[in-house]
Amino acid sequence: MEKKTEKKGFVPARKKSSPPKRAGKGNACPLYKKCGGCQLQNMTYPEQLSFKQAKAIRTLGRFGHVEEIIGMEKPVHYRNKVQAAFGTTRGGMIVSGVYQSSSHNIVLVDECMLEDQKADKIIVDIRHMLPRYKLTAYNEDTGKGFLRHVLVKRSFSTGEIMVVLVTGHHLFPAKKEFLKELLKKHKDITTVIWNINGGKTSLVLGDREEILYGNGYIEDVLCGKRFRISAKSFYQINPLQTEKLYGTAIEFADLTGKETVLDAYCGTGTIGIVASDKAKQVVGVELNEDAVRDAKYNARLNKVENIRFFCADAGKFMVAMAEEREKVDVVLMDPPRAGSDLNFLKSVVTLSPEKVVYISCNIETQARDLGFLCKNGYKVRKIQPVDMFPHTAHIESVVLLTKK
Ligand code: SAH
Repeated sequence: MEKKTEKKGFVPARKKSSPPKRAGKGNACPLYKKCGGCQLQNMTYPEQLSFKQAKAIRTLGRFGHVEEIIGMEKPVHYRNKVQAAFGTTRGGMIVSGVYQSSSHNIVLVDECMLEDQKADKIIVDIRHMLPRYKLTAYNEDTGKGFLRHVLVKRSFSTGEIMVVLVTGHHLFPAKKEFLKELLKKHKDITTVIWNINGGKTSLVLGDREEILYGNGYIEDVLCGKRFRISAKSFYQINPLQTEKLYGTAIEFADLTGKETVLDAYCGTGTIGIVASDKAKQVVGVELNEDAVRDAKYNARLNKVENIRFFCADAGKFMVAMAEEREKVDVVLMDPPRAGSDLNFLKSVVTLSPEKVVYISCNIETQARDLGFLCKNGYKVRKIQPVDMFPHTAHIESVVLLTKK
């Protein structure tokens, strides 16, 4: 998610005065071609949904009936996480925005129809503030300069806002004054983090982090539970649709309170914690250490006592569970785009849970993995696509499998 391409030049701005007026009605954004983030913007939103539905049927239809995709009522400004790269034009003007697809250019973005408007405003204000403090944008070629990226995360439910200032060096001139002005301009910012990333890397965030204001994280409420979000941990970016996605997954699991549930690829524990009320116990497994730390914290925050988290490769963890003949009734799995691996899938077959609920952000790899499970004793019972990323080509889907 934090990846980017190289940059060098600059693409002229979309003016503040030209917001995406026709959002959702086709080709709404003036940056449509330059940015490349919204592949489907030449279609109206209903057309996009039909397009995604047809693709879901082509890819998953051989496993069974594909339910109608769950769309958004207002498919704009849904992103709760916004990041902008900073650079300088040849004329010396500081720009912020996204990297143009397959080029070296930064596309100057003041507003984006996918992004949270408050976050966009904060980023533009930071850009305007820099020259007054004699602060520059970082230059990746020379390694000189100051600000590399700004990342903003906002909880739509609690209103809490995190601003992460990513610099190339461990030096922040006029730090106090800059911070004071930023907080004065945006009184609803609840935490500011200074992240240092001096590496030649495609990652936005570096390893060193200093909290400049607040407690270093924000909290969000999802499906009635509270979750801590730190700068680095994975968190779904479209909260409205996430509730529908998790709701569908938990409905498919149809828990009675007696089940042992495995939440595989659990991130910060969100799905498992939401499911915990209806299960006997939940085991979560996740590779990223920071996410596991957040997951454990989130369990305590919600006073959930029937959940345990393990930091491990989900495939290896499953093999170990299968060797020890642990009993699992329901596997909830939500792997990254690459899908699951053979270790994991073989162990699912060995552990033989009654139900598998497979959430995927890439229906191609999901179809491949479903193929394996269907050859090995499982049958697909329900397929529900969810539109998590309107205007982009991505399709998310939830599939229920049970033993034949
Ligand atoms: N279910 C979570 C996270 C889904 S994203 C949510 O809805 O928020 C996929 C997660 O899989 C990421 O947190 C990623 O760190 C994790 N992951 C990637 N490869 C993994 C592996 N081999 N084993 C376990 N977890 C992995």
